[in-house]
Amino acid sequence: MIMSAGLWAAFWSAAKAMAAACLFAAPLMAQFDYSTWQKNDISPSRLKTWMDCPRKYFYNYVQHLPKPGRDFFISGNVFDEIAMEMFREDTSQDIEPIVDLAGDVMRERLDYNSEWYKKNLIRGRDATFSDLRKLNGAVMSMVEREKAVLDFRTWTRGFLTAWQNGEDFLGNKLSMLPIVDTQVECIWPIQIEGQTVRIHGYADMLHEDGSVTDLKMASDWHTSIWTAGRIMSEMQWVPYSQALNTNDFRYIVTHKHKTGYKEKRRAGQPTVETFEVTVYPTDVERFKDLVTQFVRSTDFLNGHEKGVFPAEPEYGGNALGWGGAPRKNICKNKDETGSICKQENSTTALNCTVCSGPLPNFNEYQLPQVNFCRKLCDFKDTCFKECFGGSFREAPDPRELTHGARTLDAKDTNDAMGYKEGLTDATNRI
Ligand code: SF4
Ligand SMILES: [Zn+2]
Repeated sequence: MIMSAGLWAAFWSAAKAMAAACLFAAPLMAQFDYSTWQKNDISPSRLKTWMDCPRKYFYNYVQHLPKPGRDFFISGNVFDEIAMEMFREDTSQDIEPIVDLAGDVMRERLDYNSEWYKKNLIRGRDATFSDLRKLNGAVMSMVEREKAVLDFRTWTRGFLTAWQNGEDFLGNKLSMLPIVDTQVECIWPIQIEGQTVRIHGYADMLHEDGSVTDLKMASDWHTSIWTAGRIMSEMQWVPYSQALNTNDFRYIVTHKHKTGYKEKRRAGQPTVETFEVTVYPTDVERFKDLVTQFVRSTDFLNGHEKGVFPAEPEYGGNALGWGGAPRKNICKNKDETGSICKQENSTTALNCTVCSGPLPNFNEYQLPQVNFCRKLCDFKDTCFKECFGGSFREAPDPRELTHGARTLDAKDTNDAMGYKEGLTDATNRI
Protein backbone atom coordinates (compact mmCIF):
# COMPACT_ATOMS: atom_id res chain seq x y z
CA MET A 1 0.00 0.00 0.00
CA ILE A 2 1.13 3.55 -0.58
CA MET A 3 0.73 6.12 2.17
CA SER A 4 1.03 9.85 1.80
CA ALA A 5 3.42 11.61 4.16
CA GLY A 6 0.53 13.21 6.04
CA LEU A 7 -1.37 9.99 6.42
CA TRP A 8 1.82 8.31 7.49
CA ALA A 9 2.52 10.89 10.18
CA ALA A 10 -1.00 10.51 11.49
CA PHE A 11 -0.69 6.76 11.46
CA TRP A 12 2.68 6.81 13.17
CA SER A 13 1.59 9.06 16.01
CA ALA A 14 -1.64 7.11 16.44
CA ALA A 15 0.30 3.88 16.52
CA LYS A 16 2.70 5.23 19.10
CA ALA A 17 -0.17 6.43 21.24
CA MET A 18 -1.73 3.00 20.99
CA ALA A 19 1.51 1.35 21.92
CA ALA A 20 1.80 3.55 24.95
CA ALA A 21 -1.71 2.70 26.03
CA CYS A 22 -1.30 -0.96 25.08
CA LEU A 23 -4.61 -0.76 23.28
CA PHE A 24 -4.90 -2.76 20.12
CA ALA A 25 -8.57 -3.36 19.87
CA ALA A 26 -8.58 -2.54 16.17
CA PRO A 27 -6.11 -3.90 13.63
CA LEU A 28 -3.25 -1.47 13.19
CA MET A 29 -2.68 -1.74 9.50
CA ALA A 30 -5.31 -2.11 6.85
CA GLN A 31 -5.89 -5.79 6.17
CA PHE A 32 -5.44 -7.23 2.72
CA ASP A 33 -8.23 -6.27 0.42
CA TYR A 34 -9.95 -9.52 -0.42
CA SER A 35 -12.62 -7.82 -2.53
CA THR A 36 -10.44 -8.39 -5.56
CA TRP A 37 -10.42 -12.15 -4.98
CA GLN A 38 -12.21 -14.31 -7.46
CA LYS A 39 -13.44 -17.84 -7.26
CA ASN A 40 -10.65 -19.32 -9.33
CA ASP A 41 -7.81 -17.53 -7.54
CA ILE A 42 -5.02 -19.58 -6.07
CA SER A 43 -2.67 -18.25 -3.41
CA PRO A 44 0.95 -19.39 -3.31
CA SER A 45 0.41 -20.87 0.15
CA ARG A 46 -2.47 -22.98 -1.17
CA LEU A 47 -0.18 -24.35 -3.85
CA LYS A 48 2.60 -24.88 -1.35
CA THR A 49 0.35 -26.91 0.95
CA TRP A 50 -0.74 -29.11 -1.93
CA MET A 51 2.89 -29.54 -2.99
CA ASP A 52 3.81 -30.66 0.53
CA CYS A 53 1.08 -33.28 0.54
CA PRO A 54 -2.27 -33.48 -1.31
CA ARG A 55 -3.90 -35.02 1.77
CA LYS A 56 -2.76 -32.15 3.93
CA TYR A 57 -4.30 -29.82 1.36
CA PHE A 58 -7.56 -31.78 1.52
CA TYR A 59 -7.80 -31.56 5.30
CA ASN A 60 -6.96 -27.88 5.28
CA TYR A 61 -8.69 -26.39 2.24
CA VAL A 62 -11.50 -28.85 1.46
CA GLN A 63 -12.54 -30.22 4.84
CA HIS A 64 -11.42 -27.16 6.81
CA LEU A 65 -10.45 -29.27 9.80
CA PRO A 66 -9.54 -27.22 12.86
CA LYS A 67 -5.86 -26.69 13.46
CA PRO A 68 -3.92 -25.07 16.24
CA GLY A 69 -2.56 -21.55 16.17
CA ARG A 70 1.17 -21.10 15.76
CA ASP A 71 3.16 -18.27 17.20
CA PHE A 72 5.43 -18.10 14.14
CA PHE A 73 2.50 -17.16 11.91
CA ILE A 74 1.77 -14.27 14.22
CA SER A 75 5.38 -13.10 14.35
CA GLY A 76 5.66 -13.31 10.55
CA ASN A 77 2.61 -11.10 10.19
CA VAL A 78 3.80 -8.53 12.68
CA PHE A 79 7.21 -8.51 11.05
CA ASP A 80 5.72 -7.58 7.66
CA GLU A 81 2.97 -5.29 8.87
CA ILE A 82 4.65 -3.35 11.63
CA ALA A 83 8.42 -3.60 11.63
CA MET A 84 9.03 -3.35 7.92
CA GLU A 85 6.22 -0.86 7.19
CA MET A 86 7.25 1.59 9.89
CA PHE A 87 10.95 1.39 9.38
CA ARG A 88 11.04 1.85 5.64
CA GLU A 89 9.78 5.43 5.81
CA ASP A 90 12.97 6.58 7.49
CA THR A 91 15.72 4.00 7.83
CA SER A 92 17.88 6.32 9.91
CA GLN A 93 15.32 6.41 12.73
CA ASP A 94 15.84 4.91 16.17
CA ILE A 95 15.13 1.18 15.97
CA GLU A 96 14.13 0.56 19.58
CA PRO A 97 10.64 2.18 19.47
CA ILE A 98 9.76 -0.01 16.50
CA VAL A 99 11.05 -3.10 18.29
CA ASP A 100 8.90 -2.11 21.29
CA LEU A 101 5.84 -1.59 19.15
CA ALA A 102 6.32 -4.83 17.20
CA GLY A 103 6.76 -6.71 20.49
CA ASP A 104 3.61 -5.13 21.93
CA VAL A 105 1.55 -5.98 18.86
CA MET A 106 2.82 -9.54 18.92
CA ARG A 107 1.96 -9.87 22.63
CA GLU A 108 -1.50 -8.54 21.94
CA ARG A 109 -2.08 -10.99 19.11
CA LEU A 110 -0.97 -13.93 21.24
CA ASP A 111 -3.83 -13.11 23.61
CA TYR A 112 -6.90 -15.16 22.80
CA ASN A 113 -9.15 -12.24 23.77
CA SER A 114 -7.76 -10.07 21.00
CA GLU A 115 -9.75 -9.36 17.88
CA TRP A 116 -6.82 -10.37 15.71
CA TYR A 117 -6.56 -13.76 17.35
CA LYS A 118 -10.25 -14.46 16.93
CA LYS A 119 -10.24 -13.33 13.34
CA ASN A 120 -7.02 -14.84 12.07
CA LEU A 121 -5.93 -17.74 14.21
CA ILE A 122 -8.91 -19.99 14.70
CA ARG A 123 -11.86 -20.88 12.59
CA GLY A 124 -15.40 -21.84 13.29
CA ARG A 125 -15.20 -21.97 17.07
CA ASP A 126 -14.63 -19.89 20.16
CA ALA A 127 -11.13 -18.76 20.91
CA THR A 128 -9.51 -20.27 23.98
CA PHE A 129 -6.13 -20.01 25.59
CA SER A 130 -5.22 -23.53 24.48
CA ASP A 131 -5.61 -22.81 20.75
CA LEU A 132 -2.04 -21.67 20.61
CA ARG A 133 0.25 -24.68 20.56
CA LYS A 134 3.86 -25.58 20.16
CA LEU A 135 5.00 -27.97 17.47
CA ASN A 136 5.02 -30.85 19.94
CA GLY A 137 1.34 -30.28 20.62
CA ALA A 138 1.60 -28.86 24.12
CA VAL A 139 -0.30 -25.65 24.85
CA MET A 140 1.93 -22.59 24.82
CA SER A 141 2.13 -21.34 28.39
CA MET A 142 2.05 -17.67 29.37
CA VAL A 143 5.78 -17.83 30.08
CA GLU A 144 6.44 -19.33 26.65
CA ARG A 145 4.30 -16.68 24.95
CA GLU A 146 6.27 -13.95 26.65
CA LYS A 147 9.48 -15.68 25.65
CA ALA A 148 8.27 -15.79 22.03
CA VAL A 149 7.73 -12.03 22.21
CA LEU A 150 11.25 -11.47 23.52
CA ASP A 151 12.74 -13.73 20.84
CA PHE A 152 10.76 -11.92 18.18
CA ARG A 153 12.08 -8.59 19.43
CA THR A 154 15.66 -9.84 19.16
CA TRP A 155 15.19 -11.02 15.56
CA THR A 156 13.31 -7.90 14.53
CA ARG A 157 16.01 -5.68 16.05
CA GLY A 158 18.66 -7.72 14.19
CA PHE A 159 16.87 -7.36 10.86
CA LEU A 160 16.30 -3.63 11.20
CA THR A 161 19.88 -3.07 12.35
CA ALA A 162 21.18 -4.98 9.33
CA TRP A 163 18.97 -2.85 7.09
CA GLN A 164 20.23 0.34 8.71
CA ASN A 165 23.92 -0.68 8.62
CA GLY A 166 23.84 -2.32 5.20
CA GLU A 167 25.10 -5.58 6.71
CA ASP A 168 24.25 -8.00 9.48
CA PHE A 169 26.43 -8.60 12.52
CA LEU A 170 28.53 -11.13 10.63
CA GLY A 171 29.08 -8.78 7.70
CA ASN A 172 26.56 -10.33 5.28
CA LYS A 173 25.67 -7.44 2.96
CA LEU A 174 22.11 -6.18 2.89
CA SER A 175 21.53 -3.48 0.32
CA MET A 176 17.88 -2.57 0.39
CA LEU A 177 17.00 -0.92 -2.92
CA PRO A 178 14.69 2.11 -2.90
CA ILE A 179 11.13 0.94 -2.33
CA VAL A 180 8.17 2.27 -4.29
CA ASP A 181 5.45 0.15 -2.73
CA THR A 182 4.84 -2.60 -0.17
CA GLN A 183 2.29 -5.40 0.12
CA VAL A 184 1.80 -5.13 -3.62
CA GLU A 185 -1.09 -7.11 -4.99
CA CYS A 186 0.11 -9.64 -7.58
CA ILE A 187 -2.33 -11.29 -9.96
CA TRP A 188 -1.02 -13.59 -12.66
CA PRO A 189 -3.66 -15.17 -14.92
CA ILE A 190 -2.91 -18.55 -16.51
CA GLN A 191 -4.99 -20.32 -19.13
CA ILE A 192 -5.65 -23.96 -18.33
CA GLU A 193 -7.90 -25.97 -20.62
CA GLY A 194 -9.77 -22.93 -21.82
CA GLN A 195 -10.32 -21.55 -18.33
CA THR A 196 -8.47 -18.85 -16.50
CA VAL A 197 -7.03 -19.34 -13.05
CA ARG A 198 -5.19 -16.54 -11.32
CA ILE A 199 -2.26 -16.88 -8.99
CA HIS A 200 -3.02 -14.19 -6.45
CA GLY A 201 -0.93 -12.90 -3.58
CA TYR A 202 0.98 -9.99 -2.13
CA ALA A 203 4.64 -9.22 -2.67
CA ASP A 204 6.38 -7.54 0.25
CA MET A 205 8.33 -4.91 -1.71
CA LEU A 206 8.42 -3.44 -5.19
CA HIS A 207 11.59 -1.45 -5.88
CA GLU A 208 12.33 1.54 -8.10
CA ASP A 209 14.27 -0.62 -10.53
CA GLY A 210 11.22 -2.85 -10.97
CA SER A 211 12.62 -5.78 -9.00
CA VAL A 212 10.63 -7.50 -6.27
CA THR A 213 11.55 -8.61 -2.73
CA ASP A 214 9.86 -11.07 -0.44
CA LEU A 215 10.86 -11.02 3.22
CA LYS A 216 11.10 -14.20 5.23
CA MET A 217 11.74 -14.85 8.85
CA ALA A 218 12.85 -18.45 8.89
CA SER A 219 13.88 -21.10 11.35
CA ASP A 220 17.53 -22.11 11.17
CA TRP A 221 16.50 -25.71 11.82
CA HIS A 222 18.68 -27.77 9.52
CA THR A 223 15.79 -29.32 7.63
CA SER A 224 14.17 -25.99 6.84
CA ILE A 225 17.01 -23.46 6.84
CA TRP A 226 17.15 -21.24 3.80
CA THR A 227 19.81 -21.87 1.22
CA ALA A 228 19.76 -20.95 -2.48
CA GLY A 229 18.40 -24.43 -3.19
CA ARG A 230 15.26 -23.78 -1.22
CA ILE A 231 14.16 -21.13 -3.73
CA MET A 232 13.33 -23.86 -6.24
CA SER A 233 10.51 -25.15 -4.05
CA GLU A 234 9.18 -21.70 -3.09
CA MET A 235 5.96 -20.53 -4.68
CA GLN A 236 6.14 -16.72 -4.82
CA TRP A 237 8.97 -15.76 -7.13
CA VAL A 238 7.61 -17.00 -10.43
CA PRO A 239 4.01 -15.71 -10.22
CA TYR A 240 4.88 -12.44 -8.47
CA SER A 241 7.60 -11.58 -10.96
CA GLN A 242 5.26 -12.40 -13.84
CA ALA A 243 2.47 -10.33 -12.30
CA LEU A 244 4.79 -7.35 -11.80
CA ASN A 245 6.49 -7.74 -15.14
CA THR A 246 10.06 -8.33 -14.01
CA ASN A 247 12.56 -11.19 -14.01
CA ASP A 248 14.45 -9.98 -10.95
CA PHE A 249 13.33 -11.34 -7.64
CA ARG A 250 15.00 -11.69 -4.28
CA TYR A 251 14.24 -13.25 -0.96
CA ILE A 252 15.66 -11.50 2.08
CA VAL A 253 15.77 -14.06 4.86
CA THR A 254 16.20 -13.30 8.55
CA HIS A 255 17.50 -16.51 10.08
CA LYS A 256 16.02 -17.03 13.53
CA HIS A 257 19.08 -18.33 15.31
CA LYS A 258 18.81 -19.64 18.84
CA THR A 259 21.40 -20.13 21.53
CA GLY A 260 21.52 -21.98 24.83
CA TYR A 261 19.85 -25.17 26.00
CA LYS A 262 16.47 -26.06 27.44
CA GLU A 263 15.05 -23.26 29.64
CA LYS A 264 17.92 -20.99 28.70
CA ARG A 265 17.28 -21.43 24.99
CA ARG A 266 16.49 -18.08 23.44
CA ALA A 267 16.93 -15.98 20.32
CA GLY A 268 20.44 -15.11 19.27
CA GLN A 269 21.39 -12.37 16.84
CA PRO A 270 19.91 -13.21 13.45
CA THR A 271 21.86 -13.35 10.24
CA VAL A 272 20.18 -11.64 7.30
CA GLU A 273 20.85 -13.16 3.92
CA THR A 274 19.85 -12.05 0.44
CA PHE A 275 19.03 -14.63 -2.22
CA GLU A 276 18.74 -13.21 -5.73
CA VAL A 277 16.93 -15.21 -8.37
CA THR A 278 16.50 -14.50 -12.07
CA VAL A 279 13.34 -15.90 -13.57
CA TYR A 280 13.96 -17.91 -16.77
CA PRO A 281 11.34 -19.00 -19.31
CA THR A 282 11.79 -22.60 -18.14
CA ASP A 283 10.80 -21.51 -14.62
CA VAL A 284 7.59 -20.02 -15.97
CA GLU A 285 6.77 -23.16 -17.97
CA ARG A 286 7.51 -25.40 -15.00
CA PHE A 287 5.28 -23.30 -12.80
CA LYS A 288 2.43 -23.44 -15.32
CA ASP A 289 2.77 -27.22 -15.45
CA LEU A 290 2.63 -27.33 -11.71
CA VAL A 291 -0.56 -25.27 -11.58
CA THR A 292 -2.07 -27.45 -14.31
CA GLN A 293 -1.26 -30.56 -12.30
CA PHE A 294 -2.80 -28.94 -9.24
CA VAL A 295 -5.97 -27.90 -11.06
CA ARG A 296 -6.46 -31.31 -12.69
CA SER A 297 -5.69 -33.57 -9.78
CA THR A 298 -7.65 -31.58 -7.21
CA ASP A 299 -10.49 -30.77 -9.63
CA PHE A 300 -10.08 -27.22 -8.37
CA LEU A 301 -12.34 -25.65 -10.98
CA ASN A 302 -15.27 -27.86 -9.97
CA GLY A 303 -15.15 -27.29 -6.24
CA HIS A 304 -12.76 -30.27 -5.78
CA GLU A 305 -15.61 -32.61 -6.61
CA LYS A 306 -13.62 -35.31 -8.38
CA GLY A 307 -10.25 -34.41 -6.93
CA VAL A 308 -7.83 -37.00 -5.65
CA PHE A 309 -5.87 -36.30 -2.51
CA PRO A 310 -3.44 -39.11 -1.70
CA ALA A 311 -1.51 -39.03 1.53
CA GLU A 312 2.16 -38.74 0.71
CA PRO A 313 4.01 -39.40 3.93
CA GLU A 314 7.71 -38.95 4.21
CA TYR A 315 9.52 -41.41 6.38
CA GLY A 316 12.60 -40.07 8.09
CA GLY A 317 14.19 -43.18 9.55
CA ASN A 318 14.58 -44.30 13.10
CA ALA A 319 16.13 -41.20 14.55
CA LEU A 320 15.73 -38.23 16.79
CA GLY A 321 13.78 -35.29 15.38
CA TRP A 322 16.97 -33.50 14.49
CA GLY A 323 18.27 -36.47 12.53
CA GLY A 324 20.76 -38.04 14.93
CA ALA A 325 20.59 -41.65 16.04
CA PRO A 326 18.35 -42.23 19.07
CA ARG A 327 20.22 -42.11 22.34
CA LYS A 328 20.39 -45.33 24.29
CA ASN A 329 17.84 -45.32 27.07
CA ILE A 330 20.13 -46.54 29.81
CA CYS A 331 18.90 -46.40 33.38
CA LYS A 332 21.02 -44.29 35.70
CA ASN A 333 18.92 -44.73 38.81
CA LYS A 334 20.62 -45.88 42.01
CA ASP A 335 19.37 -48.47 44.48
CA GLU A 336 19.59 -48.15 48.29
CA THR A 337 23.22 -49.24 48.25
CA GLY A 338 24.06 -46.53 45.71
CA SER A 339 24.86 -48.78 42.76
CA ILE A 340 23.61 -47.71 39.35
CA CYS A 341 21.00 -49.88 37.60
CA LYS A 342 22.48 -49.57 34.02
CA GLN A 343 19.61 -51.49 32.43
CA GLU A 344 19.26 -50.64 28.72
CA ASN A 345 15.59 -50.02 27.94
CA SER A 346 13.78 -49.46 24.67
CA THR A 347 13.87 -45.82 23.56
CA THR A 348 10.11 -45.51 23.89
CA ALA A 349 10.21 -46.59 27.52
CA LEU A 350 9.57 -43.96 30.17
CA ASN A 351 10.34 -46.12 33.17
CA CYS A 352 12.99 -48.76 33.67
CA THR A 353 11.81 -52.35 33.29
CA VAL A 354 14.09 -53.44 36.13
CA CYS A 355 13.89 -50.76 38.81
CA SER A 356 10.82 -48.81 37.56
CA GLY A 357 12.74 -45.55 37.94
CA PRO A 358 12.25 -42.72 35.43
CA LEU A 359 14.31 -42.76 32.22
CA PRO A 360 15.70 -39.68 30.48
CA ASN A 361 15.81 -40.60 26.78
CA PHE A 362 12.28 -41.29 25.64
CA ASN A 363 12.16 -40.77 21.87
CA GLU A 364 8.76 -39.89 20.50
CA TYR A 365 10.01 -40.25 16.95
CA GLN A 366 10.17 -43.98 17.43
CA LEU A 367 6.43 -44.24 17.99
CA PRO A 368 5.07 -45.65 14.72
CA GLN A 369 2.10 -43.29 14.67
CA VAL A 370 4.52 -40.38 14.71
CA ASN A 371 7.33 -41.47 12.49
CA PHE A 372 5.30 -42.77 9.53
CA CYS A 373 5.41 -39.15 8.34
CA ARG A 374 7.91 -36.53 9.36
CA LYS A 375 6.37 -33.69 7.41
CA LEU A 376 5.25 -30.68 9.35
CA CYS A 377 1.52 -31.35 9.42
CA ASP A 378 -1.38 -30.40 11.68
CA PHE A 379 -3.49 -33.39 10.64
CA LYS A 380 -1.28 -36.37 11.43
CA ASP A 381 -3.69 -38.04 13.77
CA THR A 382 -6.62 -37.87 11.33
CA CYS A 383 -4.41 -38.89 8.44
CA PHE A 384 -3.00 -41.88 10.23
CA LYS A 385 -6.45 -43.14 11.17
CA GLU A 386 -8.12 -42.43 7.84
CA CYS A 387 -5.40 -43.29 5.38
CA PHE A 388 -3.33 -45.89 7.16
CA GLY A 389 -5.87 -47.73 9.27
CA GLY A 390 -4.35 -46.51 12.49
CA SER A 391 -3.30 -50.08 13.23
CA PHE A 392 0.06 -49.16 14.66
CA ARG A 393 -1.94 -47.75 17.49
CA GLU A 394 -2.29 -51.23 18.90
CA ALA A 395 1.29 -50.75 19.99
CA PRO A 396 1.00 -48.99 23.33
CA ASP A 397 1.97 -45.38 23.48
CA PRO A 398 4.02 -45.09 26.66
CA ARG A 399 2.93 -41.52 27.15
CA GLU A 400 -0.58 -42.72 27.88
CA LEU A 401 0.57 -44.91 30.72
CA THR A 402 1.16 -43.83 34.28
CA HIS A 403 3.99 -45.61 35.97
CA GLY A 404 4.05 -45.88 39.74
CA ALA A 405 5.30 -42.71 41.31
CA ARG A 406 5.81 -40.87 38.06
CA THR A 407 2.97 -39.12 36.27
CA LEU A 408 3.68 -37.68 32.88
CA ASP A 409 3.14 -34.09 32.08
CA ALA A 410 3.98 -32.07 29.02
CA LYS A 411 7.27 -30.92 30.43
CA ASP A 412 8.50 -34.47 30.98
CA THR A 413 7.88 -35.34 27.37
CA ASN A 414 9.49 -32.17 26.10
CA ASP A 415 12.55 -32.73 28.21
CA ALA A 416 12.73 -36.36 27.21
CA MET A 417 12.53 -35.43 23.56
CA GLY A 418 15.16 -32.79 23.98
CA TYR A 419 13.96 -30.74 21.03
CA LYS A 420 10.86 -28.95 19.91
CA GLU A 421 10.72 -29.00 16.16
CA GLY A 422 9.05 -31.21 13.61
CA LEU A 423 6.16 -32.53 15.62
CA THR A 424 2.53 -31.60 15.47
CA ASP A 425 -0.18 -31.52 18.05
CA ALA A 426 -1.89 -34.44 16.46
CA THR A 427 1.07 -36.62 17.27
CA ASN A 428 1.11 -35.74 20.90
CA ARG A 429 -1.92 -36.65 22.86
CA ILE A 430 -0.84 -35.94 26.39
S1 SF4 B 1 0.56 -36.78 8.02
FE1 SF4 B 1 1.94 -36.69 6.24
S2 SF4 B 1 0.87 -37.95 4.70
FE2 SF4 B 1 -0.64 -37.43 6.25
S3 SF4 B 1 -1.66 -35.55 5.54
FE3 SF4 B 1 0.04 -34.93 6.87
S4 SF4 B 1 1.75 -34.57 5.49
FE4 SF4 B 1 0.25 -35.82 4.36
ZN1 LIG C 1 16.70 -49.21 36.23
